[in-house]
Amino acid sequence: MLPTLREACGVFGVYAPGEDVARITFFGLYALQHRGQESAGIATSNSRTIYLKTGMGLVSQVFDEDDLSYLPGAFAIGHTRYSTTGSSRLDNAQPFRVSGPNGELALGHNGNIVNAAVLREELQRDGITFTTSSDSEVIARMLAHAPGDSWKDRWGHVMRRLNGAYSLAVITPDAMMMARDPMGNRPLCLGRLDGGWVAASESCAFDHLGATFIREIEPGEVIYIDAEGLQSFKPAEDLEQRSAFCVFEYIYFARPDSLLGGKLVYPIRMALGRELAKEAPAPTGDVVIGVPDSATAAAIGYSQASGIPFVEGLVKNRYVGRTFIQPDQRLREVGVHLKFNPLRDVLQDRRVVLVDDSIVRGTTTPRVIQMLRKAGAREVHMRITAPPITHPCFYGIDMGTRWELIAAQKSVPEIREHIGADSLGYLSAEGLERSVQTAKDRLCMACFSGEYPRPVPLQMDKLAMEPADGALDRHESEYTLPLRRP
Ligand code: SF4
Repeated sequence: MLPTLREACGVFGVYAPGEDVARITFFGLYALQHRGQESAGIATSNSRTIYLKTGMGLVSQVFDEDDLSYLPGAFAIGHTRYSTTGSSRLDNAQPFRVSGPNGELALGHNGNIVNAAVLREELQRDGITFTTSSDSEVIARMLAHAPGDSWKDRWGHVMRRLNGAYSLAVITPDAMMMARDPMGNRPLCLGRLDGGWVAASESCAFDHLGATFIREIEPGEVIYIDAEGLQSFKPAEDLEQRSAFCVFEYIYFARPDSLLGGKLVYPIRMALGRELAKEAPAPTGDVVIGVPDSATAAAIGYSQASGIPFVEGLVKNRYVGRTFIQPDQRLREVGVHLKFNPLRDVLQDRRVVLVDDSIVRGTTTPRVIQMLRKAGAREVHMRITAPPITHPCFYGIDMGTRWELIAAQKSVPEIREHIGADSLGYLSAEGLERSVQTAKDRLCMACFSGEYPRPVPLQMDKLAMEPADGALDRHESEYTLPLRRP
């Protein structure tokens, strides 16, 4: 995947009395690092109070041995963040710790709340104050103040009011709760670790910890764990909300060694490539290459179905972009060279089929194609394992506005010309549905179709709740999508 589409966050939770839960969470977050690299945090609780440490950067940059030793208890949650609502600042790093009539709690969130600004105003009118610009703080404060005698009632109140995507990890001083929105838009799964429980955005975290995958947490389900054991409830079951799992988790976001919908991601990505080879065969081709790492499995699938040999034509520098040191102007102009290096001997005089997951804004793909040509490629045939992205995501994936999406502005032949490819082919929505082996009415495919599972506001932007001239009040309330650029 070229560096234009960013993941939204990873959450992790553990209940393991007698174990070093902060350390377990640290390594759980390490496995979820691909879901967010701007900030990380761990909160623990020990029946009396909640301890918290957050920081900017990678998990390994935020925590050291000392930090872990100051995070005691039997419960822990952790979070890796890429900002979707709220800017990239330390006070927006999660988990958030808040308190209210329901006591103290800490919360980590993966997803995006579409009606967060409206809910925030309602809470502010009730005298509740906010310390950050994040939609996740809105959920945390709603939970801390929700009416009801039980957590089931409180979750029912909160879930009925939230419109959006949320996979949540929450701790109180003496319990852990994991919750997934009624669409089941973002992944969340449950596992066992010795006598305790673990939960994570993706099952790959369990493999690294020696935990056993039990099952996915269901859409609309809350798992409540305390010293008495585990309870499961669906507090807003009466809500009419269809399942809408983000299909991009299969295409790009999730790690290939994770299970989604009971299926391993890696063979699904190979199936995407095979289907693409059938639907959009390249007119000519000597080699198939994938943009590393996420398109590699699809490129292998494309190679299998087309008979064109797969080779590695681009080597990725995995550590670039994971530093706070910014490149200077000269290095910025080199652009993708910092991230990818072409293998000249492999590409020299070859007709190359280049497989990737998506073209979002169309800013980096032309540079990669140019780089392949400079390295000797005679022809470059671009193939994409998804339909054209024509609509923005409101559920936590940063794609920019509709006006920045190249496929919302240009036809496929115009995009081909813009990126400088000899040919361009996309996978169809039907081909995508077949490859992920899931019915369309259980998936979110809104960024390809504009058919959002629930109505979304006109001009949500990720800084909608940032302070402007000292006020935390800028938001849109119109519930339609624009047809023309305003
Ligand atoms: S709009 Fe696209 S990226 Fe966003 S949740 Fe739906 S499928 Fe995923």
